[in-house]
Amino acid sequence: MSGPAGTGAPVRTTCAYCGVGCGVLATPEADGGTAIAGDPDHPANFGRLCSKGSALGATLGAEGRLLDPLIAGQRSSWVDATALVAARFADTIARHGPDSVAFYVSGQLLTEDYYVANKLMKGFIGSANIDTNSRLCMASSVAGHKRAFGSDTVPGCYEDLEEADLVVLVGSNLAWCHPVLHQRLMAARDKRGTRIVTIDPRRTVTADQSDLHLALRPGSDTSLFNGLLHHLADRGHLAAGAIDAVEGLADALALAASDAAAGLAERCGLSTGEIAAFFAEWAGTERVVTVYSQGVNQARNGTDKVNAILNCHLATGRIGRVGMGPFSVTGQPNAMGGREVGGLANMLACHLDLENAAHRAAVQDYWSCGPLPQSAGLKAVDLFDACASGQVRALWIMGTNPAVSLPRADHVRDAIAACDFTVVSDVTADTDTAELADVLLPAAGWGEKDGTVTNSERRISRQRAFCPAPGQARPDWQIICDVARAMGFGAGFDFGGPHAIFAEYAGMTALSRRFGRDLDLTGLAGLDRAGYDALRPVQWPVAPGGAGTDRMFGDGDYFTPSGRPRAVAVAAGPELEPQGGALLLNTGRIRDQWHTMTRSGQAEVLTRHIAEPFLEIHPEDAARRGIGPADIVTVSGQGSTATLRALVTSRVRPGTLFAPMHWSGQFAADARVDALVAPDRDPVSGQPALKSAPVHLSKCAWS
Ligand code: SF4
Repeated sequence: MSGPAGTGAPVRTTCAYCGVGCGVLATPEADGGTAIAGDPDHPANFGRLCSKGSALGATLGAEGRLLDPLIAGQRSSWVDATALVAARFADTIARHGPDSVAFYVSGQLLTEDYYVANKLMKGFIGSANIDTNSRLCMASSVAGHKRAFGSDTVPGCYEDLEEADLVVLVGSNLAWCHPVLHQRLMAARDKRGTRIVTIDPRRTVTADQSDLHLALRPGSDTSLFNGLLHHLADRGHLAAGAIDAVEGLADALALAASDAAAGLAERCGLSTGEIAAFFAEWAGTERVVTVYSQGVNQARNGTDKVNAILNCHLATGRIGRVGMGPFSVTGQPNAMGGREVGGLANMLACHLDLENAAHRAAVQDYWSCGPLPQSAGLKAVDLFDACASGQVRALWIMGTNPAVSLPRADHVRDAIAACDFTVVSDVTADTDTAELADVLLPAAGWGEKDGTVTNSERRISRQRAFCPAPGQARPDWQIICDVARAMGFGAGFDFGGPHAIFAEYAGMTALSRRFGRDLDLTGLAGLDRAGYDALRPVQWPVAPGGAGTDRMFGDGDYFTPSGRPRAVAVAAGPELEPQGGALLLNTGRIRDQWHTMTRSGQAEVLTRHIAEPFLEIHPEDAARRGIGPADIVTVSGQGSTATLRALVTSRVRPGTLFAPMHWSGQFAADARVDALVAPDRDPVSGQPALKSAPVHLSKCAWS
């Protein structure tokens, strides 16, 4: 492929931001810049890009980058920094045991980075203390999938949204958070008249573009979908033989019936007419896709919410067929890839189980390592609590900013500071987390390294390097392998490049096949460097001779011991009722920023959409506190405060607030809203409840 005159050839790569995983053509230009365009041949986006993806070129270059390893703030060499990190981790393990160290990694890492980090911690250090910021993104979906399907399998693909007659968006501001997928949905609606229902307490841009918006009471999704399940059964819409074909369906139906009888409309904060319209539409449409995201996952009962949705699809057979199925959209570019290689504290690589002795033995044999940990390690919130208590004494944070993004972020900042030894590897030293590190390691960024990512529809795509890393920056996989070798684990980490890591990982997926699990990449196991470089986007499973798999479960075969899917009886449970004048804070995202703005904050064009942090307040709540439009307000919770601009709007329900979570200490002194959020989490998945935190609101004295 040749580029325009005066430029280099376009390089096919993948966007660095959300889980849609759009293909990008990056073309080096004569002036040193890079032209960015959508890849017309990539099956996720067919040439489209959103505002964030289009601005990727403005985030490249050496400005603001961490260029050298820093030890106690002093410029150092890789030799010294690697030796120090290895020695401090080895010494801590020798004195306090393997569970005294931990890694906290990121959905920004490539699958190859994730694979070696997980291999080092679980296989060679012998602890399961590796968790990821993807815990904040989709852990409840993983747990829900495993309960229902026996595996963490996304059943469908993006094309299903285009082939559906009804798309239900639950807790998903798809238009802003997964914009290209939303563009595909809108284009399909123009063609086939797709009906769209949005279920979200907040009236988002996505809700504005829907046929029906249900602004339900926060947290009542389980009740709503239990009510739907009961309605489907009551009106004769269950699939033929569903009671026998779906394990646990009778129990789920019984619970749903009692839930539906107890004032459903009132509990959901909706009118009976709204509920009836939604139920009738769902029941009367065969091709239904239910898309769900953070509004479902980031909740105290996130896993139950997921299963309440899955129950409806399983009971009606609307799964694994064209235009039908539940669909979890992931936030991060490689949340799925991290799950594949065991980058969560409660998983082994290749979707195998830590608690299963046969799985552990097989992995130990494949890696030629010592005994693996037998139970789950510390999940994100617990991991930082363990730093605060002294249980974890050496911590390595890779490519993420937990001092801003985790609940009770000020406590997390103190916990990191309390750790005996903290390493941060990142592209910049200018984050709230990096400021706390004893050792800072410069990581190569997007466009500077090679590897793979997996998007929300199980599609593996290559990220490819098209420019040199600045200074001494190195790819994460190389940093991790160097430390592993310095710790004495040489043979297991002697990779000649990311292609060799991918080949080892793909070969390992034979274990997933052997144990009847879903993650099969054995069709790619023999890839050499040239084959890896030429790898085209493909959806797993990829069996030998296979070309990938768009839909799963169409044959009715699941990964449970019985081979049947499971419905889970989920009780709605009491909703959180804020006390003492508190309001419920919903944290979320805006269209043109990403996470804590480490990369997107570099692109001036992205600040034009929304330039400053804000707080959406319902007019009744604002009036009660004497707050007017554009006043400065103080929000407090968990002993912390944030100072924000008031946006008085009926887009939020009375008693609720919304604030974006992006602004960190680098961009606004007092706007770290996740610091206000209580560390409540789903008991099954460990995912924090970032969507409904009790906080107090007042007008700022000087406003
Ligand atoms: Fe990147 Fe997501 Fe936008 Fe696609 S939709 S260009 S993956 S941010």
